[in-house]
Amino acid sequence: MIVIGAGPAGMNTALYTQRSNLKTLILDKGMYGGQLNNTLEVENYIGVGKVLGMDLAESMYQQIEELGVEYQYGELLSITKEGDLFIVVTDVETYQSLSVVIATGTEHRKLGVQGELEYSGKGVSYCAICDGAFFKDGKIVVVGGGDSALEEGEYLTNYGKTVSLIHRRDELRGTKILQDRFINKENTDLIFNSQVTNIIGDGNLITHVELTDVDGNITKHEANGVFIYIGLDPNTTQLLNLGITDSEGYVLTDDKMQTNISGLFAVGDVRKKELRQIATAVGDGSICGTSIYNYIAKLKD
Ligand code: NAP
Repeated sequence: MIVIGAGPAGMNTALYTQRSNLKTLILDKGMYGGQLNNTLEVENYIGVGKVLGMDLAESMYQQIEELGVEYQYGELLSITKEGDLFIVVTDVETYQSLSVVIATGTEHRKLGVQGELEYSGKGVSYCAICDGAFFKDGKIVVVGGGDSALEEGEYLTNYGKTVSLIHRRDELRGTKILQDRFINKENTDLIFNSQVTNIIGDGNLITHVELTDVDGNITKHEANGVFIYIGLDPNTTQLLNLGITDSEGYVLTDDKMQTNISGLFAVGDVRKKELRQIATAVGDGSICGTSIYNYIAKLKD
């Protein structure tokens, strides 16, 4: 069977299927670990205390590698089903399997304003851990009001002279503990009821962002770095023709992680669900691995 996506959900599914003696291949278009690679520290995954996101990814991967799960690079192009067999096509190869698990996760949503694309990599970033150090003693703007904006904003206080969080409403969405941690840092401030409507620079580097408040007033705010954390979109572009997604592109499953196509499963952040955490991702994986074992056992009967 094939798992597409090597984040915590995909890796835990692979752990369960491989332990059930199902030959398991895990495909990913990048580094294993998924969003763990964009997370500095994890501290809400029970049993491991505080751990670096990348270290947790590494130990998950080592565990499945030791079990014999095969890992290959490949960017998904299509999934089709012919009889009981799935045909999975990537940019590298075509595979056949009895069951497929979609564990492709989510990616950071774009703001869609002028300057965002132009200054991407020149001041606009979606990854504080990757790019924070470029803005030492600079003026940093974080866009968004959720857990990601608060958590990454707090991390950026290690580098920026100031870190201003711009949120479109007057109330933060993120959890209280993360709100307090961000607000209690000396070099932070909150700008509510405002949207970043333009990212302005000298052609090479960002100098300002344009803010538009709820009354339509426009102001300029000095900025060297703009970190955008306004939510996530599911990585399901190649799956939209299968009729397994909702209006936002998230995959719909039953409580066994099965989509409406028999043998096609989905786990983790890509699935329509209430809470997207490492713990819920690996929980999906355990359920899914068990469901696949039962599914394939029935096929063989
Ligand atoms: P999120 O919870 O969806 O928050 C997105 C934020 O961006 C919201 O405050 C939203 O404003 C704002 N926003 C959305 N579209 C916008 C736009 N076009 N312009 C300006 N602002 C916009 O996303 P997230 O923070 O990336 O978190 C995603 C999931 O991961 C959540 O379930 C979160 O709990 C989880 N997460 C957990 C942790 C942790 O447990 N430590 C850390 C990071 C993420 P409104 O509030 O007005 O909608």
